[in-house]
Amino acid sequence: MAEKKIRNDLILVGALIGMLLLVGGAMLLFRSEGDMVVVTVNGETYASYPLAKDTEVDILTGENGTQVNRLIIRDGKAFVESATCPDGICASHKPVSHDGESIICLPHKVVVAIESTK
Ligand SMILES: [Zn+2]
Repeated sequence: MAEKKIRNDLILVGALIGMLLLVGGAMLLFRSEGDMVVVTVNGETYASYPLAKDTEVDILTGENGTQVNRLIIRDGKAFVESATCPDGICASHKPVSHDGESIICLPHKVVVAIESTK
């Protein structure tokens, strides 16, 4: 009975896809929101800010603080609005809000990381 076998295979494939969708959906659902924005400069903690509070702050690094990364926290998301670094990668990074996400400015050795204290 070849036909029946094919149908069983289809059911099996369907079940597998369904399981994958379920697992994927659960991972998205339980991806935890962070609640702190931790700024690290050259490997050392520079400052940390609550993600729930709108903040605008200039992260000053380099000699006499001539290197600037403008950090904005708004609507529970953090992003670098502008920066004086040559590549501008940090400023073009999309806003971060999930635990473990980060924006890195390599030229300034600045890391803006989302952490969860819960
Ligand atoms: Zn940068």
